[in-house]
Amino acid sequence: ESYFSCSAFKTSFYFLLPDFVFMIPKSFYRRIEGELTELEKSSLLRTVPEVDFGADKELVFKGKRLLNLASNDYLGLSKDQSLATAAIKAVEQYGCGSAASRLVTGNFRLYDELERELAAFKEQEDSMLFTSGYAANLAIMDSFAGRRTVVFSDKLNHASILDGIRMSGARQVRYRHNDIAHLKKRMEASKDADEKLLVTDTIFSMDGDLAYLEEIADLCDFYDTMLVVDEAHAEGVFGSGKGIAHERGLVRRVDLHMGAFSKGFGSLGGAVSGRKDLISYLRNKGRSFVFSTALSPAVIGANLAALRMVAEDPSRGDKLLHMSRDVKTYLESCGFDCGQSESQIIPVILGDNETALTARDRLIEAGIYAAAIRPPTVPEGTARLRLSLRADLTEVDLQKIKAAFGGLKAELEK
Ligand code: PMP
Repeated sequence: ESYFSCSAFKTSFYFLLPDFVFMIPKSFYRRIEGELTELEKSSLLRTVPEVDFGADKELVFKGKRLLNLASNDYLGLSKDQSLATAAIKAVEQYGCGSAASRLVTGNFRLYDELERELAAFKEQEDSMLFTSGYAANLAIMDSFAGRRTVVFSDKLNHASILDGIRMSGARQVRYRHNDIAHLKKRMEASKDADEKLLVTDTIFSMDGDLAYLEEIADLCDFYDTMLVVDEAHAEGVFGSGKGIAHERGLVRRVDLHMGAFSKGFGSLGGAVSGRKDLISYLRNKGRSFVFSTALSPAVIGANLAALRMVAEDPSRGDKLLHMSRDVKTYLESCGFDCGQSESQIIPVILGDNETALTARDRLIEAGIYAAAIRPPTVPEGTARLRLSLRADLTEVDLQKIKAAFGGLKAELEK
């Protein structure tokens, strides 16, 4: 009763919530409502956008067909017919669910085949799959790092890495983004720690810039530190689809190669590749692996088809990088700030949240959907559009993108 008489209810949308919500103690309720109000006031309240899948590289937003430059489907494989056929075949053969953790009865022949082929592709002794890239990073940190470990982590590493480090109880030492001098200082200060591990994204997901992997590998050698790389955004694109470590000739100097089937490969799942003993350790210790149901046959079928496509013909990634350089050059010539991007992820840094939202709306009017990324995903004052280019863009699409940004620049300067 008393909750209903609380004045906050009269002005909020809580009256739409089912009855059980009103059992929340008042103390929680006030905090939650306060935080939601704050988020709304600063244009940071997230809701699921009204998007629907469209044909090929399009999505449907409020009934309008738009070119999708906001997904991580870098090679356009998510709607590829051969992935769909492989997924359907796997479902027909094995059913929809895997029905148990991999270590119980969730395994099937295709799963083993995928891990074997992935290990060969990544030039590693062994590989293992996780239900997502997020779960893979949690498992890596949770397994290999502990209270005796110092983990060096780039300040812009993905949230799943940070969450994994937190779970592990390790001492986290963050270094300024891509600042090798700062990293060296931090490593020197912790050189006597029992165990040291360094983890870095190879492509940073909100900026599209690349880690200085050679320098990092040198420091890891010098300070006797285990090196883990997250190649989620690089796989399928760089290094004949194998990632940045391969492109730079650093395969043997990285201890664990994390990757994902959810981006360039157009499907779902995370993966870790490395030495047999390290992967065996991960299979035994990674809680997000041990205590979670294995991926479904449809996903495994699609992943295997995607992996084979990229292994047989890695040219899509090269084409994508070529287009990305062209688009970035154009955007910079218009006066946009694209940061240090060197990949298919191109930020257009606009500053405040409102401008980013306005820019997103203008692009929608021009037939393009790009994500507006705001704090806390990116630092305060660096709200941006994040363009994810894709290998299936045509010359007509590229012209459309350029025209839209040309128009946007003119409007922002009005
Ligand atoms: N690592 C990085 C660098 C990422 O950007 C993401 C997802 N955006 C992940 C890991 C998590 O992968 P997934 O979406 O497959 O869980």
